[in-house]
Amino acid sequence: MLNFHQYYSVDVVNGPGTRCVLFVSGCVHECRGCYNKSTWRLDSGKPFTQQDEDQIIADLQNTVIPRQGLTLSGGDPLHPQNLSVIRQLLLRVKAECPGKDVWMWTGYKLDELTIEQQAVIALINVLVDGKFMQDLKDPSLIWRGSSNQVIHTLR
Ligand code: SF4
Repeated sequence: MLNFHQYYSVDVVNGPGTRCVLFVSGCVHECRGCYNKSTWRLDSGKPFTQQDEDQIIADLQNTVIPRQGLTLSGGDPLHPQNLSVIRQLLLRVKAECPGKDVWMWTGYKLDELTIEQQAVIALINVLVDGKFMQDLKDPSLIWRGSSNQVIHTLR
């Protein structure tokens, strides 16, 4: 079960190039100054259906508007209760959308991930990790809200 708030089929601000972007529900981090508080509850937003999953795959395969890849943000895609649906989506992206990259934003730190979370990030290319820290906020940073966050190019 996964809920989500927004899906943008064409987006140019959440990662490099032209991308599909999914903002999921559910986040435990409660960062002060969070830009997306409405996504904290797992039951906020709307259910992510098979049709939604199929649409993302079709958009990534679309050759009229080529996408560089998929971005997963939120909320937190690595919330324990989001993992199974996110993993299923990523397995399909890998199998059916060769050459597309996956970027993910999470409030967890890379070196603190559980085995289950690690199994999910094994399927992505880039992880931007860490809570948003208002005291370290820096608008000049690319892809990051605060300077504690790290862009990990995993593969
Ligand atoms: S991790 Fe992101 S969505 Fe979650 S509280 Fe922090 S800033 Fe908000």
